[in-house]
Order: sequence, then structure tokens, then C-alpha cells
Amino acid sequence: MAAMTHPAIRVSEIFGPTIQGEGVLIGLPTVFVRTGGCDYRCSWCDSLHAVDNQYRHEWEMMSVDAVWQSVVGLSGGRPVMVSLSGGNPAIQPLGALIERGHREGYRFALETQGSVVRDWFAELDVLVLSPKPPSSEMTTDWAAIEACVQAANEKPQVVLKLVVFDESDYAYAKDAAARFPRLPIYLQPGNHTPPRPGNADSAVDLDGITKRMEWLVESVTRDRWFEARVLPQLHVMLWGNKRGV
Ligand code: SF4
Repeated sequence: MAAMTHPAIRVSEIFGPTIQGEGVLIGLPTVFVRTGGCDYRCSWCDSLHAVDNQYRHEWEMMSVDAVWQSVVGLSGGRPVMVSLSGGNPAIQPLGALIERGHREGYRFALETQGSVVRDWFAELDVLVLSPKPPSSEMTTDWAAIEACVQAANEKPQVVLKLVVFDESDYAYAKDAAARFPRLPIYLQPGNHTPPRPGNADSAVDLDGITKRMEWLVESVTRDRWFEARVLPQLHVMLWGNKRGV
């Protein structure tokens, strides 16, 4: 019988292990598979090199085998958490990669804005849904996000992660929490000085981010919003806008 072939995956970069810098898995050693391409264009996107078609020449169509060999090489063959990020990783065919990794004891987390639903979400270990607030200048399809939760089918841990820049983003985060009361919610202050491709080590305004973090903490405690967790982006605090860390 011929070996089964799987569709290729469009990859922007594979790097690690480093620690996960944000959300529910913060601090956990992780290998990142960043896919290329996104159906959104958030005004403050911090991964434009994996989003904008202008950088397509840096992306590579890789077989599941090639991606897997790269992950195994980086982790020294020792099972580690693999973060599938982007861009929007949901527009790539990642089911076979997840199946392959699981056979060898690896775990998989995927972060997406929730605009594209995949049945293989149910095979993940962690699904991070990150609806984009008004400051992103995108429009949220709440029905699609609900469909993502349904597709997960209560198998992976499903959490919400909301980037917050201002009061209207904060109100949006509260609305998201009200729509999905069973999902843990993580709030993180937005980085208003995101990296620009070609100048990935550009300066970051840590003081500004810290002020936003303090304001967020004050807001959730003032509102007695005790289910929300407020976390900074740890990698930004440690390494600024540097890529591949
Ligand atoms: S959804 Fe994420 S990757 Fe896509 S444009 Fe927005 S911030 Fe960037």
C-alpha cells in the first residue's frame, strides 16, 4: 500500500525551545511552529512577517515530515509542548502533524482568532481563542468562534485570550466573557510598539505597556471581575520585540 501523503503546510518559521510568553501556558518550554498567512489584518499585529503577502517569499511549503523533523531536532527528540501559531494556523492543514506528534508524546496548543473552524481542533491539547477587539479594526464573527468551541468538542482545554488596549477593548473583553462564561479568560495589555518586519528588534515601549498592565489590574479589581487573569507578554518584557525567542 502506498504511504499516505498529507497536504503541505505553509510555514513562516519554526523555533525554540523557548518559554511560552503569554496566556494559559506562560512560562512553559515550547517549540513554536509559526504558519504563514492570515485572513485578518489587525492594526497592531505583532507578527506581520507571518501575515503580509509581502513576506511570502520567506515562507516555505513544508511536508508534515519536514515540519516534524524540525520540531524533533529542536527538542532533541524529547516531548515538549508545540505551539501552532501564525498568522492564523487554522487556515493550514495541521491535523496530520498533531496526530504524528501525539504518537511520540508531544502536546499541541493552537492560538487563533477563531474565524476558521477545523474538525481537528478536537485533537489539540489546548485551544486558545483570541477574538480581536475594536482597536484591531477587525469585525468579530461570534458564530464562528462558537463553532470553534463546538469543534473542540470538550476535548482540549479551551481558553479565551484578549488583548486590551483601551476602554472599548476592555468592554469587548467583558462581552466575550459573558458570551462564553465557561471558558477561562486571560487579558493581556497590548503592545502599541509592535515589531515591524525587517526591523524586528525595534524598540518597545515597556513603560507604556506596564502602565496599561497596571490600568488593567485596577480595572478588573475595581469591577470585581475575579474570573479574569491579567498577564503581560513575558517574552516582550525579557526580549522586547526580538524574533525567535
Ligand atoms: S489575527 Fe493575529 S496574526 Fe492575524 S493579523 Fe491579527 S494579530 Fe496578526
